[in-house]
Amino acid sequence: MKASAGGYARAENVRHALDLLAASGGQGRLLAGGQSLVAAMNMRLSAGDLLVDISRLSELSGVTEQGGTLHIGALTRHVEIGSDPLVKTHAPVLAAAVAHIAHAAIRNRGTIGGALAHADPAAEFPACALALGAEMHAEGPDGTRTIPAEDFFEEVFTTALDESEILTAISVPVAEDGEKQVLEEVARRSGDYALAGLCLVKRAAGHRIALFSVGPKPILATGAMTALDDGDLDGAVAALAAEIDPPSDTQASAAYRRHLAGVLLRRAVARLKGDNQ
Ligand SMILES: Cc1cc2nc3c(=O)[nH]c(=O)nc-3n(C[C@H](O)[C@H](O)[C@H](O)COP(=O)(O)OP(=O)(O)OC[C@H]3O[C@@H](n4cnc5c(N)ncnc54)[C@H](O)[C@@H]3O)c2cc1C
Repeated sequence: MKASAGGYARAENVRHALDLLAASGGQGRLLAGGQSLVAAMNMRLSAGDLLVDISRLSELSGVTEQGGTLHIGALTRHVEIGSDPLVKTHAPVLAAAVAHIAHAAIRNRGTIGGALAHADPAAEFPACALALGAEMHAEGPDGTRTIPAEDFFEEVFTTALDESEILTAISVPVAEDGEKQVLEEVARRSGDYALAGLCLVKRAAGHRIALFSVGPKPILATGAMTALDDGDLDGAVAALAAEIDPPSDTQASAAYRRHLAGVLLRRAVARLKGDNQ
């Protein structure tokens, strides 16, 4: 199957992209890496009268560190996230996630902003953003706004972004001394979407646990976080099982995913204790 016919416009800058979106009357679709959007269009799961190509907006790409904050442009590609020295130092869980995302061709084109805006509940980056306590930066016709990761992911493939807005960047706090970050997942084959996955961040203030592929959006497991802060791993595993509601599908049953979540938490904690990244 092929995508239905539609228009195409290459944005020259963010303002131009916003103007193109506004002029499309709700029919514009932002094209970043195209790795999810084009597949969805070819399957006629997504349609729009105008593709607004933002892929060449260099101002939305790259990683910088300023004033205790790591700033990652929305168009930074997966492969760049995986190799960037600042990301490896301050958000190693994002760098670790890249090895689990699809295959090289997709990682060469896909962007972190595209992955976050697409909000696939099985995707790695949204859960990493939640575990890191990231902030999303959006620009729209009325200016800019910042959305905490906790409020950004709303439902399957649905975020707090308005259709007139562009996600311009994600920011995370730089890593503190002794901070640890771990990602664990189980997939049937390398590169497949995970059956279940978990990101664990340990800071002086406590643990942050976010899961993917166990519900309609990435889930911050606050009950498990509290139990882990108290040093109660069995309690954390029990809390985790109670606070997720995984789907059953052709890949795995809900019961299996719930079991996996506990296994992944135990593995992640063991890696933290082994000082293993
Ligand atoms: C075979 C295959 C396997 C994959 N496996 C995995 C996997 O294991 N794990 C994983 O996490 N992902 C996986 N992906 C998805 C991949 O990571 C995508 O690249 C990513 O989800 C979307 O990024 P993109 O830049 O290609 O976005 P696009 O496809 O260009 O856009 C995706 C959506 O986000 C919107 N969008 C894009 N950028 C912005 C922005 N800056 N602001 C607002 N809206 C925006 C688009 O309009 C569109 O609706 C896979 C994809 C394929 C095709």
